[in-house]
Amino acid sequence: MSRYDIVIAGGGLAGLECAAILAKEGMHVCVLEKNPLIGGCFQSFRRFGKLLDTGIHYVGSMDEGQLLHTIFKYMGITDKLRLQRLDEEGFDRICLDGKEYRYAMGYDRFVETLAQEFPHEQAALRHYVTQLQEIGNTSSVELLRRGIFSDGGYKYFSHSASAFIEECTQDATLRRVLAGTVQLYGGINDRSPLYCHGMINNSYISGAYRFVGGSAQVTDALADVVRKYGGEVCNNSRITRFVVDGTRVKAVYVNDEEYIEADRFISTIHPQATLALLDDTPTIKKAYKRRIAAMPNTYGIFTIYLLTKPGTVPYDNFNRFLHMRNDVWYDEHNDMQSCLISQQAVSPHNDYADVVTLLTPTPYDEVKAWENTCVEHRGDDYLAYKEQKTRRILDFVRRHGLDYEGCIDHIITSSPLTYRDYTATTQGAAYGFEKNYKSPHLCVLSSRTHLPNFYFAGQNLNVHGALGVSLTSLLTCAEFLGQDYLAKKVGYA
Ligand SMILES: Cc1cc2nc3c(=O)[nH]c(=O)nc-3n(C[C@H](O)[C@H](O)[C@H](O)COP(=O)(O)OP(=O)(O)OC[C@H]3O[C@@H](n4cnc5c(N)ncnc54)[C@H](O)[C@@H]3O)c2cc1C
Repeated sequence: MSRYDIVIAGGGLAGLECAAILAKEGMHVCVLEKNPLIGGCFQSFRRFGKLLDTGIHYVGSMDEGQLLHTIFKYMGITDKLRLQRLDEEGFDRICLDGKEYRYAMGYDRFVETLAQEFPHEQAALRHYVTQLQEIGNTSSVELLRRGIFSDGGYKYFSHSASAFIEECTQDATLRRVLAGTVQLYGGINDRSPLYCHGMINNSYISGAYRFVGGSAQVTDALADVVRKYGGEVCNNSRITRFVVDGTRVKAVYVNDEEYIEADRFISTIHPQATLALLDDTPTIKKAYKRRIAAMPNTYGIFTIYLLTKPGTVPYDNFNRFLHMRNDVWYDEHNDMQSCLISQQAVSPHNDYADVVTLLTPTPYDEVKAWENTCVEHRGDDYLAYKEQKTRRILDFVRRHGLDYEGCIDHIITSSPLTYRDYTATTQGAAYGFEKNYKSPHLCVLSSRTHLPNFYFAGQNLNVHGALGVSLTSLLTCAEFLGQDYLAKKVGYA
Protein backbone atom coordinates (compact mmCIF):
# COMPACT_ATOMS: atom_id res chain seq x y z
CA MET A 1 0.00 0.00 0.00
CA SER A 2 1.27 3.48 -0.90
CA ARG A 3 0.70 6.70 1.03
CA TYR A 4 0.99 10.33 -0.10
CA ASP A 5 0.34 13.81 1.23
CA ILE A 6 -2.00 14.45 -1.66
CA VAL A 7 -3.58 12.21 -4.28
CA ILE A 8 -4.87 13.97 -7.39
CA ALA A 9 -7.54 12.33 -9.51
CA GLY A 10 -7.13 12.97 -13.26
CA GLY A 11 -4.01 13.81 -15.25
CA GLY A 12 -5.35 16.59 -17.48
CA LEU A 13 -4.25 20.20 -17.23
CA ALA A 14 -5.88 20.80 -13.83
CA GLY A 15 -4.51 17.65 -12.19
CA LEU A 16 -0.97 18.18 -13.44
CA GLU A 17 -0.97 21.88 -12.58
CA CYS A 18 -2.13 21.22 -9.02
CA ALA A 19 0.46 18.44 -8.73
CA ALA A 20 3.29 20.62 -10.07
CA ILE A 21 2.46 23.49 -7.69
CA LEU A 22 2.10 21.31 -4.61
CA ALA A 23 5.18 19.19 -5.43
CA LYS A 24 7.24 22.37 -5.89
CA GLU A 25 6.01 23.47 -2.48
CA GLY A 26 7.36 20.30 -0.87
CA MET A 27 4.36 17.99 -0.78
CA HIS A 28 4.49 14.33 -1.75
CA VAL A 29 1.91 14.06 -4.50
CA CYS A 30 0.58 11.38 -6.82
CA VAL A 31 -1.49 11.96 -9.97
CA LEU A 32 -3.71 9.10 -11.11
CA GLU A 33 -4.83 9.14 -14.75
CA LYS A 34 -7.09 6.46 -16.20
CA ASN A 35 -5.85 6.69 -19.80
CA PRO A 36 -2.62 5.28 -21.26
CA LEU A 37 -1.58 8.86 -22.11
CA ILE A 38 -1.73 11.79 -19.69
CA GLY A 39 -3.08 15.19 -20.72
CA GLY A 40 -6.88 14.86 -20.89
CA CYS A 41 -8.04 17.53 -23.35
CA PHE A 42 -4.38 18.63 -23.71
CA GLN A 43 -3.34 15.23 -25.05
CA SER A 44 -1.87 15.04 -28.55
CA PHE A 45 -2.03 11.72 -30.39
CA ARG A 46 -0.69 10.35 -33.67
CA ARG A 47 -2.62 8.96 -36.60
CA PHE A 48 -0.91 8.01 -39.87
CA GLY A 49 2.25 9.69 -38.54
CA LYS A 50 0.57 13.07 -37.98
CA LEU A 51 0.10 14.76 -34.64
CA LEU A 52 -3.49 15.65 -33.67
CA ASP A 53 -4.63 17.73 -30.69
CA THR A 54 -7.59 16.56 -28.63
CA GLY A 55 -8.95 19.81 -27.27
CA ILE A 56 -6.59 22.76 -27.49
CA HIS A 57 -6.19 24.80 -30.63
CA TYR A 58 -4.85 28.06 -29.30
CA VAL A 59 -4.21 29.84 -26.03
CA GLY A 60 -4.33 33.51 -25.01
CA SER A 61 -2.54 35.87 -22.59
CA MET A 62 0.75 34.26 -23.53
CA ASP A 63 2.91 37.33 -24.15
CA GLU A 64 5.65 37.83 -21.55
CA GLY A 65 4.06 39.35 -18.44
CA GLN A 66 0.50 38.40 -19.39
CA LEU A 67 -1.60 36.24 -17.13
CA LEU A 68 -1.23 32.71 -18.52
CA HIS A 69 2.44 33.31 -19.29
CA THR A 70 2.98 34.43 -15.68
CA ILE A 71 1.22 31.37 -14.29
CA PHE A 72 3.13 28.96 -16.56
CA LYS A 73 6.37 30.72 -15.63
CA TYR A 74 5.67 30.18 -11.93
CA MET A 75 4.98 26.51 -12.67
CA GLY A 76 8.36 26.33 -14.37
CA ILE A 77 7.33 25.34 -17.89
CA THR A 78 7.52 28.44 -20.13
CA ASP A 79 11.00 27.69 -21.48
CA LYS A 80 9.81 24.20 -22.49
CA LEU A 81 7.00 25.48 -24.71
CA ARG A 82 7.24 25.94 -28.46
CA LEU A 83 4.72 28.54 -29.48
CA GLN A 84 3.70 30.36 -32.60
CA ARG A 85 2.16 33.81 -32.28
CA LEU A 86 -0.94 33.94 -34.48
CA ASP A 87 -1.46 36.54 -37.20
CA GLU A 88 -1.55 39.93 -35.48
CA GLU A 89 -3.65 41.41 -38.28
CA GLY A 90 -6.35 38.78 -37.82
CA PHE A 91 -5.82 35.82 -35.50
CA ASP A 92 -9.55 35.00 -35.54
CA ARG A 93 -11.68 35.56 -38.64
CA ILE A 94 -15.45 35.61 -38.50
CA CYS A 95 -17.02 34.48 -41.77
CA LEU A 96 -20.54 35.76 -42.33
CA ASP A 97 -22.57 36.25 -45.52
CA GLY A 98 -19.54 35.61 -47.74
CA LYS A 99 -17.37 38.18 -45.92
CA GLU A 100 -14.48 37.75 -43.53
CA TYR A 101 -14.15 40.04 -40.47
CA ARG A 102 -10.83 40.09 -38.66
CA TYR A 103 -10.07 40.16 -34.94
CA ALA A 104 -6.65 41.81 -34.75
CA MET A 105 -4.31 41.39 -31.79
CA GLY A 106 -3.90 44.25 -29.32
CA TYR A 107 -6.80 46.50 -28.42
CA ASP A 108 -6.01 49.51 -30.62
CA ARG A 109 -5.45 47.33 -33.63
CA PHE A 110 -8.63 45.35 -32.86
CA VAL A 111 -10.69 48.56 -32.90
CA GLU A 112 -8.95 50.03 -35.98
CA THR A 113 -9.34 46.84 -38.00
CA LEU A 114 -13.05 46.38 -37.34
CA ALA A 115 -13.67 50.13 -37.69
CA GLN A 116 -12.56 49.82 -41.33
CA GLU A 117 -15.63 47.61 -41.88
CA PHE A 118 -17.88 49.58 -39.52
CA PRO A 119 -16.65 53.20 -39.73
CA HIS A 120 -19.60 54.57 -37.74
CA GLU A 121 -19.04 52.13 -34.90
CA GLN A 122 -15.61 53.28 -33.68
CA ALA A 123 -16.97 54.51 -30.33
CA ALA A 124 -18.98 51.32 -29.87
CA LEU A 125 -15.88 49.23 -30.55
CA ARG A 126 -13.83 51.32 -28.12
CA HIS A 127 -16.48 50.81 -25.44
CA TYR A 128 -16.54 47.06 -26.18
CA VAL A 129 -12.79 46.59 -25.73
CA THR A 130 -12.62 48.81 -22.65
CA GLN A 131 -15.19 46.54 -21.02
CA LEU A 132 -13.31 43.42 -22.11
CA GLN A 133 -10.11 44.69 -20.53
CA GLU A 134 -11.93 45.57 -17.35
CA ILE A 135 -13.43 42.07 -17.17
CA GLY A 136 -10.02 40.53 -17.82
CA ASN A 137 -8.57 42.52 -14.95
CA THR A 138 -11.28 42.21 -12.35
CA SER A 139 -12.23 38.64 -13.12
CA SER A 140 -8.86 37.08 -13.69
CA VAL A 141 -6.26 39.11 -11.88
CA GLU A 142 -8.45 39.87 -8.88
CA LEU A 143 -9.44 36.25 -8.69
CA LEU A 144 -5.78 35.40 -8.46
CA ARG A 145 -4.91 38.15 -6.00
CA ARG A 146 -7.73 37.64 -3.60
CA GLY A 147 -8.69 34.05 -4.19
CA ILE A 148 -12.33 34.97 -4.61
CA PHE A 149 -14.42 36.55 -7.29
CA SER A 150 -14.12 40.26 -6.85
CA ASP A 151 -17.39 42.18 -6.72
CA GLY A 152 -16.59 43.10 -10.30
CA GLY A 153 -16.15 39.43 -11.20
CA TYR A 154 -19.58 38.60 -9.83
CA LYS A 155 -21.07 41.57 -11.59
CA TYR A 156 -19.84 40.23 -14.91
CA PHE A 157 -20.87 36.69 -14.06
CA SER A 158 -24.43 37.82 -13.46
CA HIS A 159 -24.63 39.89 -16.64
CA SER A 160 -25.62 38.45 -20.01
CA ALA A 161 -22.99 38.25 -22.77
CA SER A 162 -25.59 38.71 -25.52
CA ALA A 163 -27.20 41.69 -23.74
CA PHE A 164 -23.76 43.31 -23.35
CA ILE A 165 -23.10 43.03 -27.09
CA GLU A 166 -26.52 44.48 -27.85
CA GLU A 167 -25.80 47.37 -25.48
CA CYS A 168 -22.54 48.09 -27.28
CA THR A 169 -23.98 48.55 -30.77
CA GLN A 170 -27.21 48.81 -32.74
CA ASP A 171 -25.51 47.48 -35.88
CA ALA A 172 -26.90 43.98 -36.48
CA THR A 173 -23.86 42.77 -38.44
CA LEU A 174 -21.36 44.08 -35.91
CA ARG A 175 -23.33 42.33 -33.16
CA ARG A 176 -22.92 39.06 -35.06
CA VAL A 177 -19.21 39.75 -35.58
CA LEU A 178 -18.58 40.45 -31.88
CA ALA A 179 -20.47 37.30 -30.93
CA GLY A 180 -18.71 35.36 -33.70
CA THR A 181 -16.47 33.35 -31.35
CA VAL A 182 -19.21 32.15 -28.98
CA GLN A 183 -18.22 28.57 -29.74
CA LEU A 184 -15.16 29.16 -27.56
CA TYR A 185 -17.37 29.04 -24.47
CA GLY A 186 -20.46 27.15 -25.65
CA GLY A 187 -22.25 30.48 -25.89
CA ILE A 188 -26.04 30.44 -25.62
CA ASN A 189 -28.11 33.55 -26.24
CA ASP A 190 -29.59 35.01 -23.05
CA ARG A 191 -27.86 32.38 -20.88
CA SER A 192 -24.07 32.74 -21.16
CA PRO A 193 -22.46 35.17 -18.71
CA LEU A 194 -20.49 38.17 -19.86
CA TYR A 195 -17.68 36.92 -17.62
CA CYS A 196 -16.94 33.96 -19.96
CA HIS A 197 -17.16 36.08 -23.11
CA GLY A 198 -15.00 38.85 -21.65
CA MET A 199 -12.35 36.71 -20.01
CA ILE A 200 -11.80 34.47 -23.04
CA ASN A 201 -11.88 37.16 -25.73
CA ASN A 202 -9.72 39.48 -23.62
CA SER A 203 -7.11 36.78 -23.28
CA TYR A 204 -6.94 36.05 -27.03
CA ILE A 205 -6.95 39.70 -28.12
CA SER A 206 -4.06 40.25 -25.67
CA GLY A 207 -1.78 37.54 -27.04
CA ALA A 208 -2.97 34.51 -29.05
CA TYR A 209 -0.63 31.59 -29.73
CA ARG A 210 -0.67 28.10 -31.22
CA PHE A 211 1.53 25.29 -29.97
CA VAL A 212 4.15 24.12 -32.43
CA GLY A 213 4.14 20.33 -32.27
CA GLY A 214 1.08 19.66 -30.13
CA SER A 215 -0.54 20.89 -26.94
CA ALA A 216 0.66 17.85 -24.97
CA GLN A 217 3.96 19.67 -24.51
CA VAL A 218 2.25 21.61 -21.68
CA THR A 219 1.06 18.57 -19.74
CA ASP A 220 4.29 16.65 -20.49
CA ALA A 221 6.32 19.58 -19.11
CA LEU A 222 4.10 19.75 -16.01
CA ALA A 223 4.55 16.00 -15.44
CA ASP A 224 8.34 16.53 -15.61
CA VAL A 225 8.05 19.23 -12.91
CA VAL A 226 6.03 16.87 -10.71
CA ARG A 227 8.63 14.11 -11.07
CA LYS A 228 11.54 16.51 -10.55
CA TYR A 229 10.12 17.42 -7.15
CA GLY A 230 9.60 13.80 -6.11
CA GLY A 231 5.97 13.34 -7.15
CA GLU A 232 4.48 10.53 -9.20
CA VAL A 233 2.34 10.60 -12.33
CA CYS A 234 0.67 7.25 -13.02
CA ASN A 235 -1.15 6.43 -16.25
CA ASN A 236 -3.52 3.46 -16.72
CA SER A 237 -4.68 4.22 -13.18
CA ARG A 238 -8.44 4.59 -13.14
CA ILE A 239 -9.84 5.58 -9.78
CA THR A 240 -12.73 3.23 -9.11
CA ARG A 241 -13.62 4.37 -5.59
CA PHE A 242 -12.97 7.17 -3.12
CA VAL A 243 -13.06 5.49 0.30
CA VAL A 244 -14.67 7.57 3.07
CA ASP A 245 -13.95 6.87 6.72
CA GLY A 246 -16.13 8.93 9.05
CA THR A 247 -15.99 12.50 7.81
CA ARG A 248 -12.80 12.19 5.73
CA VAL A 249 -11.69 10.56 2.52
CA LYS A 250 -9.13 8.00 3.50
CA ALA A 251 -7.99 6.34 0.28
CA VAL A 252 -8.71 5.54 -3.33
CA TYR A 253 -8.97 2.24 -5.12
CA VAL A 254 -7.19 2.14 -8.47
CA ASN A 255 -8.47 -0.25 -11.14
CA ASP A 256 -10.52 -1.94 -8.36
CA GLU A 257 -7.29 -3.38 -6.93
CA GLU A 258 -4.63 -1.05 -5.66
CA TYR A 259 -5.35 0.82 -2.41
CA ILE A 260 -3.67 4.23 -2.03
CA GLU A 261 -3.96 6.39 1.08
CA ALA A 262 -3.38 10.11 1.40
CA ASP A 263 -3.97 12.98 3.82
CA ARG A 264 -5.83 14.99 1.22
CA PHE A 265 -7.42 14.47 -2.20
CA ILE A 266 -8.16 16.68 -5.19
CA SER A 267 -10.54 15.48 -7.90
CA THR A 268 -10.32 17.02 -11.36
CA ILE A 269 -12.70 14.38 -12.70
CA HIS A 270 -16.08 15.84 -13.71
CA PRO A 271 -17.94 16.42 -10.39
CA GLN A 272 -20.94 14.32 -11.47
CA ALA A 273 -18.55 11.41 -12.17
CA THR A 274 -16.58 12.12 -8.97
CA LEU A 275 -19.66 11.87 -6.75
CA ALA A 276 -20.54 8.53 -8.34
CA LEU A 277 -17.14 7.21 -7.19
CA LEU A 278 -17.37 8.62 -3.65
CA ASP A 279 -18.63 6.37 -0.82
CA ASP A 280 -21.98 7.44 0.57
CA THR A 281 -21.51 9.65 3.62
CA PRO A 282 -23.89 11.83 5.62
CA THR A 283 -21.22 14.56 5.40
CA ILE A 284 -22.09 15.11 1.74
CA LYS A 285 -25.69 16.17 1.98
CA LYS A 286 -28.31 14.81 -0.41
CA ALA A 287 -29.20 18.38 -1.41
CA TYR A 288 -25.58 18.99 -2.56
CA LYS A 289 -25.62 15.78 -4.59
CA ARG A 290 -28.97 16.68 -6.12
CA ARG A 291 -27.68 20.15 -6.99
CA ILE A 292 -24.61 18.76 -8.74
CA ALA A 293 -26.59 16.03 -10.51
CA ALA A 294 -29.00 18.68 -11.83
CA MET A 295 -26.36 21.07 -13.17
CA PRO A 296 -26.65 21.24 -16.97
CA ASN A 297 -23.57 20.66 -19.12
CA THR A 298 -22.35 22.47 -22.21
CA TYR A 299 -22.92 20.94 -25.62
CA GLY A 300 -20.44 18.54 -27.20
CA ILE A 301 -18.21 18.93 -30.23
CA PHE A 302 -17.97 16.85 -33.39
CA THR A 303 -14.35 17.09 -34.48
CA ILE A 304 -13.03 16.33 -37.97
CA TYR A 305 -9.29 16.07 -38.55
CA LEU A 306 -8.37 16.35 -42.22
CA LEU A 307 -4.92 14.84 -42.71
CA THR A 308 -3.85 16.69 -45.81
CA LYS A 309 -1.73 15.61 -48.76
CA PRO A 310 1.65 17.33 -48.53
CA GLY A 311 1.79 20.75 -50.20
CA THR A 312 -1.92 21.03 -50.99
CA VAL A 313 -3.49 23.30 -48.32
CA PRO A 314 -1.68 26.58 -47.60
CA TYR A 315 -1.00 27.12 -43.88
CA ASP A 316 -3.30 29.69 -42.23
CA ASN A 317 -1.83 31.31 -39.16
CA PHE A 318 -5.32 32.08 -37.86
CA ASN A 319 -8.67 30.46 -37.03
CA ARG A 320 -11.88 30.78 -38.98
CA PHE A 321 -15.34 30.84 -37.43
CA LEU A 322 -17.89 30.04 -40.15
CA HIS A 323 -21.53 30.95 -39.56
CA MET A 324 -24.46 29.92 -41.66
CA ARG A 325 -27.37 31.52 -39.90
CA ASN A 326 -28.36 35.04 -39.05
CA ASP A 327 -28.18 34.15 -35.39
CA VAL A 328 -24.61 33.17 -34.45
CA TRP A 329 -25.59 31.89 -30.98
CA TYR A 330 -25.99 28.15 -30.42
CA ASP A 331 -29.32 26.64 -31.36
CA GLU A 332 -29.73 23.05 -30.22
CA HIS A 333 -32.36 22.46 -32.92
CA ASN A 334 -30.01 23.37 -35.75
CA ASP A 335 -27.06 21.01 -36.07
CA MET A 336 -25.32 22.76 -38.96
CA GLN A 337 -24.94 26.34 -37.93
CA SER A 338 -21.30 27.07 -37.30
CA CYS A 339 -17.85 25.56 -37.58
CA LEU A 340 -14.47 26.54 -36.16
CA ILE A 341 -11.56 25.74 -38.46
CA SER A 342 -8.09 25.64 -37.01
CA GLN A 343 -4.83 24.26 -38.32
CA GLN A 344 -1.93 22.69 -36.48
CA ALA A 345 1.53 24.18 -36.56
CA VAL A 346 4.18 21.53 -37.07
CA SER A 347 7.16 23.86 -37.29
CA PRO A 348 7.78 27.57 -36.65
CA HIS A 349 7.68 28.13 -40.44
CA ASN A 350 4.76 26.35 -42.04
CA ASP A 351 3.99 26.91 -45.70
CA TYR A 352 1.39 24.18 -45.88
CA ALA A 353 -1.05 22.71 -43.38
CA ASP A 354 -0.42 19.19 -42.11
CA VAL A 355 -3.76 18.83 -40.35
CA VAL A 356 -6.92 20.94 -40.62
CA THR A 357 -9.32 20.61 -37.69
CA LEU A 358 -13.03 21.38 -38.00
CA LEU A 359 -15.04 21.69 -34.79
CA THR A 360 -18.84 21.77 -34.85
CA PRO A 361 -21.17 22.17 -31.84
CA THR A 362 -23.19 18.98 -31.43
CA PRO A 363 -25.99 18.26 -28.95
CA TYR A 364 -25.73 15.03 -27.00
CA ASP A 365 -29.15 13.95 -28.27
CA GLU A 366 -27.61 13.46 -31.69
CA VAL A 367 -25.47 10.56 -30.41
CA LYS A 368 -27.70 9.37 -27.57
CA ALA A 369 -28.75 6.27 -29.54
CA TRP A 370 -25.23 4.87 -29.01
CA GLU A 371 -24.74 5.95 -25.40
CA ASN A 372 -24.53 2.37 -24.16
CA THR A 373 -21.66 1.51 -26.49
CA CYS A 374 -17.91 1.98 -26.07
CA VAL A 375 -15.05 3.12 -28.31
CA GLU A 376 -14.48 0.96 -31.41
CA HIS A 377 -17.66 -1.03 -30.68
CA ARG A 378 -20.46 1.37 -31.51
CA GLY A 379 -21.73 -0.45 -34.62
CA ASP A 380 -22.13 0.24 -38.31
CA ASP A 381 -24.99 2.71 -37.89
CA TYR A 382 -22.75 4.92 -35.76
CA LEU A 383 -20.03 4.81 -38.42
CA ALA A 384 -22.66 5.73 -41.01
CA TYR A 385 -23.80 8.64 -38.82
CA LYS A 386 -20.21 9.92 -38.54
CA GLU A 387 -19.65 9.59 -42.26
CA GLN A 388 -22.84 11.45 -43.08
CA LYS A 389 -22.13 14.20 -40.53
CA THR A 390 -18.63 14.61 -41.95
CA ARG A 391 -20.01 14.97 -45.47
CA ARG A 392 -22.50 17.61 -44.34
CA ILE A 393 -19.84 19.61 -42.53
CA LEU A 394 -17.52 19.47 -45.55
CA ASP A 395 -20.41 20.68 -47.74
CA PHE A 396 -21.05 23.47 -45.24
CA VAL A 397 -17.45 24.70 -45.37
CA ARG A 398 -17.41 24.35 -49.16
CA ARG A 399 -20.29 26.80 -49.31
CA HIS A 400 -17.94 29.18 -47.48
CA GLY A 401 -15.42 28.76 -50.29
CA LEU A 402 -13.17 26.21 -48.53
CA ASP A 403 -12.92 23.15 -50.71
CA TYR A 404 -10.60 20.38 -49.52
CA GLU A 405 -11.50 18.01 -52.40
CA GLY A 406 -8.34 16.28 -53.62
CA CYS A 407 -6.28 17.51 -50.63
CA ILE A 408 -7.13 14.85 -48.08
CA ASP A 409 -5.20 11.65 -47.37
CA HIS A 410 -7.20 10.56 -44.32
CA ILE A 411 -10.13 11.76 -42.24
CA ILE A 412 -10.35 11.09 -38.49
CA THR A 413 -13.49 12.04 -36.56
CA SER A 414 -14.66 12.13 -32.97
CA SER A 415 -18.10 12.78 -31.48
CA PRO A 416 -19.29 13.83 -28.00
CA LEU A 417 -19.29 10.11 -27.13
CA THR A 418 -15.57 9.94 -27.88
CA TYR A 419 -14.93 12.81 -25.42
CA ARG A 420 -17.32 11.25 -22.88
CA ASP A 421 -15.47 7.95 -22.88
CA TYR A 422 -12.04 9.53 -23.09
CA THR A 423 -12.32 12.17 -20.33
CA ALA A 424 -15.32 10.82 -18.34
CA THR A 425 -17.13 14.11 -18.84
CA THR A 426 -20.91 13.79 -18.57
CA GLN A 427 -22.43 13.60 -22.06
CA GLY A 428 -19.06 14.52 -23.58
CA ALA A 429 -19.72 18.16 -22.65
CA ALA A 430 -17.00 20.19 -24.35
CA TYR A 431 -16.49 22.68 -21.53
CA GLY A 432 -18.03 20.96 -18.50
CA PHE A 433 -20.88 22.67 -16.66
CA GLU A 434 -22.87 25.28 -18.53
CA LYS A 435 -22.66 28.75 -17.01
CA ASN A 436 -25.83 30.82 -16.76
CA TYR A 437 -25.84 34.49 -15.84
CA LYS A 438 -29.34 34.14 -14.34
CA SER A 439 -28.10 31.80 -11.61
CA PRO A 440 -24.36 32.44 -11.16
CA HIS A 441 -24.29 30.92 -7.66
CA LEU A 442 -25.81 27.69 -8.91
CA CYS A 443 -23.39 27.07 -11.75
CA VAL A 444 -20.08 27.84 -10.06
CA LEU A 445 -18.69 25.20 -7.72
CA SER A 446 -16.35 25.84 -4.83
CA SER A 447 -13.10 23.90 -4.69
CA ARG A 448 -14.04 22.96 -1.11
CA THR A 449 -16.50 20.19 -0.32
CA HIS A 450 -18.10 19.28 3.01
CA LEU A 451 -15.43 16.63 3.43
CA PRO A 452 -12.60 18.69 4.93
CA ASN A 453 -9.81 16.86 3.08
CA PHE A 454 -11.52 16.52 -0.31
CA TYR A 455 -11.33 19.26 -2.99
CA PHE A 456 -12.29 19.89 -6.59
CA ALA A 457 -10.24 21.51 -9.36
CA GLY A 458 -10.60 21.72 -13.14
CA GLN A 459 -12.76 23.23 -15.81
CA ASN A 460 -16.09 22.66 -14.08
CA LEU A 461 -15.38 25.07 -11.25
CA ASN A 462 -15.10 28.47 -12.89
CA VAL A 463 -14.25 28.94 -16.53
CA HIS A 464 -12.83 26.19 -18.78
CA GLY A 465 -9.86 26.55 -21.12
CA ALA A 466 -6.15 26.89 -20.52
CA LEU A 467 -6.52 30.17 -18.63
CA GLY A 468 -9.71 29.38 -16.72
CA VAL A 469 -8.38 26.00 -15.57
CA SER A 470 -4.98 27.46 -14.59
CA LEU A 471 -6.60 30.13 -12.43
CA THR A 472 -8.76 27.49 -10.80
CA SER A 473 -5.74 25.26 -10.12
CA LEU A 474 -4.20 28.17 -8.23
CA LEU A 475 -7.39 28.70 -6.24
CA THR A 476 -7.53 25.04 -5.23
CA CYS A 477 -3.83 24.99 -4.30
CA ALA A 478 -4.33 28.18 -2.26
CA GLU A 479 -6.50 26.06 0.04
CA PHE A 480 -3.31 24.15 0.94
CA LEU A 481 -0.71 26.89 0.76
CA GLY A 482 -2.55 30.09 1.64
CA GLN A 483 -3.78 32.69 -0.81
CA ASP A 484 -1.28 35.43 0.11
CA TYR A 485 1.67 33.08 -0.07
CA LEU A 486 0.68 31.70 -3.46
CA ALA A 487 -0.19 35.11 -4.93
CA LYS A 488 3.28 36.32 -3.86
CA LYS A 489 4.96 33.29 -5.39
CA VAL A 490 3.17 33.77 -8.71
CA GLY A 491 4.07 37.45 -8.61
CA TYR A 492 0.64 38.97 -8.13
CA ALA A 493 0.68 40.02 -4.49
C1 LIG B 1 -12.93 20.14 -28.66
C2 LIG B 1 -12.37 21.08 -27.63
C3 LIG B 1 -11.59 22.15 -28.04
C4 LIG B 1 -11.04 23.02 -27.10
N1 LIG B 1 -10.25 24.04 -27.50
C5 LIG B 1 -9.65 24.84 -26.59
C6 LIG B 1 -8.73 25.84 -27.01
O1 LIG B 1 -8.43 25.99 -28.20
N2 LIG B 1 -8.17 26.63 -26.04
C7 LIG B 1 -8.46 26.49 -24.70
O2 LIG B 1 -7.92 27.23 -23.87
N3 LIG B 1 -9.33 25.52 -24.29
C8 LIG B 1 -9.92 24.70 -25.20
N4 LIG B 1 -10.75 23.69 -24.77
C9 LIG B 1 -11.01 23.54 -23.33
C10 LIG B 1 -9.84 22.86 -22.60
O3 LIG B 1 -9.32 21.81 -23.37
C11 LIG B 1 -10.33 22.30 -21.25
O4 LIG B 1 -11.07 23.29 -20.55
C12 LIG B 1 -9.20 21.82 -20.32
O5 LIG B 1 -8.21 21.11 -21.00
C13 LIG B 1 -9.83 20.96 -19.21
O6 LIG B 1 -8.82 20.50 -18.34
P1 LIG B 1 -9.22 19.63 -17.05
O7 LIG B 1 -7.98 19.14 -16.45
O8 LIG B 1 -10.17 20.41 -16.20
O9 LIG B 1 -10.11 18.40 -17.62
P2 LIG B 1 -9.69 17.15 -18.53
O10 LIG B 1 -8.74 17.54 -19.57
O11 LIG B 1 -11.00 16.53 -18.95
O12 LIG B 1 -8.94 16.18 -17.51
C14 LIG B 1 -9.61 15.29 -16.65
C15 LIG B 1 -8.77 14.02 -16.61
O13 LIG B 1 -9.34 13.13 -15.65
C16 LIG B 1 -9.19 11.81 -16.17
N5 LIG B 1 -10.14 10.91 -15.49
C17 LIG B 1 -11.49 10.88 -15.62
N6 LIG B 1 -11.99 9.92 -14.83
C18 LIG B 1 -10.95 9.34 -14.19
C19 LIG B 1 -10.84 8.29 -13.23
N7 LIG B 1 -11.91 7.64 -12.76
N8 LIG B 1 -9.61 7.97 -12.76
C20 LIG B 1 -8.49 8.63 -13.20
N9 LIG B 1 -8.54 9.62 -14.13
C21 LIG B 1 -9.76 9.97 -14.60
C22 LIG B 1 -9.49 11.97 -17.65
O14 LIG B 1 -9.02 10.86 -18.40
C23 LIG B 1 -8.75 13.28 -17.95
O15 LIG B 1 -7.42 13.04 -18.34
C24 LIG B 1 -11.31 22.82 -25.71
C25 LIG B 1 -12.09 21.72 -25.30
C26 LIG B 1 -12.62 20.86 -26.25
C27 LIG B 1 -13.45 19.68 -25.79
